[in-house]
Amino acid sequence: MTKNVRVRFAPSPTGPLHIGGVRTALFNYLYAKKNNGKFILRIEDTDQNRYVEGAERYIMDALNWCGMDFDEGPGKNEKFGPYRQSERKDLYKQYADQLIGSGNAYYAFDTAEALDFHRKDHETKGKTFIYNWHNRLKLKNSLSLSAEDVKAKLDAGEDYVIRFKSPQDETLHLKDIIRGDIKIDTNILDDKVLFKSDGMPTYHLANIVDDHLMEISHVIRGEEWLPSLALHYQLYQAFGWDAPEFAHLPLILKPTGKGKLSKRDGDKMGFPVFPIEWTDPKTNEVSRGYKEDGYFPEAMVNFLAFLGWNPGTEQEIFSLEELVQAFDLKKVNKSGARFDPDKTKWFNHHYMQEQNDNILAKKFKSIIPELSEIDENYVTMVVGLIKERATFVSDFWELSHFFFTPPTAYDEKAAKKAFKEGTLELMEKLKTIILHIDDFTVTALQKDIKGWITDNEIGFGKVMMPLRLALVGALQGPDVFDIMFMIGKNETVKRIENVIKTL
Ligand code: GLU
Repeated sequence: MTKNVRVRFAPSPTGPLHIGGVRTALFNYLYAKKNNGKFILRIEDTDQNRYVEGAERYIMDALNWCGMDFDEGPGKNEKFGPYRQSERKDLYKQYADQLIGSGNAYYAFDTAEALDFHRKDHETKGKTFIYNWHNRLKLKNSLSLSAEDVKAKLDAGEDYVIRFKSPQDETLHLKDIIRGDIKIDTNILDDKVLFKSDGMPTYHLANIVDDHLMEISHVIRGEEWLPSLALHYQLYQAFGWDAPEFAHLPLILKPTGKGKLSKRDGDKMGFPVFPIEWTDPKTNEVSRGYKEDGYFPEAMVNFLAFLGWNPGTEQEIFSLEELVQAFDLKKVNKSGARFDPDKTKWFNHHYMQEQNDNILAKKFKSIIPELSEIDENYVTMVVGLIKERATFVSDFWELSHFFFTPPTAYDEKAAKKAFKEGTLELMEKLKTIILHIDDFTVTALQKDIKGWITDNEIGFGKVMMPLRLALVGALQGPDVFDIMFMIGKNETVKRIENVIKTL
């Protein structure tokens, strides 16, 4: 009974993709790859009022940056295409008509003002207005009007919508892979609009028709679509089609654990909520992205995977390929996943260690003007020495400036600790030892300097602390022998002479 797995990511191009959307795409991608299935991108752009220029490109760029190639989608393997709903527009009307024909849907002519009046009227009576079985006969539609009236209105080109006729007194049994069995009393459902007289389907109709025509086997989407599940089930039933399986992913919660993560949380707490930078085409407002903030796509994919899923083991580091192997929809949690910005940094720090030093060096050079003239091989070696302390390439300068420029001051607190009586003489002696080392390698430096310290029972701190201050300006940085080797004999001696002058 294994069916071909075909899943889709179906964003609406109404703006940049929130990381929650990227997580949905990722879980679809993982499920498809795990099951030798297809990952499809469908652009749900039926709501032209909310269409935003550039959003579709952004979605594709974001997927591409994360390494999630789609198998079918706009411009690619258009076997079930087109994959933009606006280009499928002419296809939906016949399905709405089919539902009218079978008695599962009806025309409604109520104006916006009339509906508004009912809504307010109910409110004043402390009730909620629901357009369904209990009042539809009192409203203006093809169930309450005569056939002639309906025909006359349609012929006259009056505005209408087509509504789904939700049944009375039934219990629906829905299934969700993550949430299990869900029972819904149809009496609480309203008669949702499926189609409008402007010729456009609503999300519900287009979504179901396309999932059916594109032979989607599993619908994996955010929890916010769970309330639509009852209608979607009924639509499949009304059409006589097999429904796909459903999995509704848990919400992504604020770092406090309370409420849904919003764009404003990111602004407030200083972390991005979008994968890549986005400039609003209308306001020119720029929203920062993980990419531009210096995150590696591997880190982003890894932390997104853990928002609502875990492998059930202690392992936290997963490449995209490893995620494909380990992923299981049954291990996705029902409850909301708290977003932890510190953990995203932890992942980035990890993936920093796996990056190629030369590529990092190129990025480093591109952001620090002081490095433009410096040899790339040298920068690459520096990167190799300091990256274990870095989370972002933007941390590099702070961690490595002393490889490129001598310290201009010595950290006061550190100086108090390091510069003692006798330091001057020790530094003079050290300088002579260094001047005598011809083979200026880390091994030779270690051998001669450590040898001198132990032979004379000087104590390592007494030499190493002032030496480090001379080289770095603070009690920080990688191994002093590495630093000396990197900056070379002349520069090492110069820096020791500088410190001697201040003693
Ligand atoms: N277009 C919907 C969205 O923007 C798709 C929901 C679904 O996957 O059914 O999220």
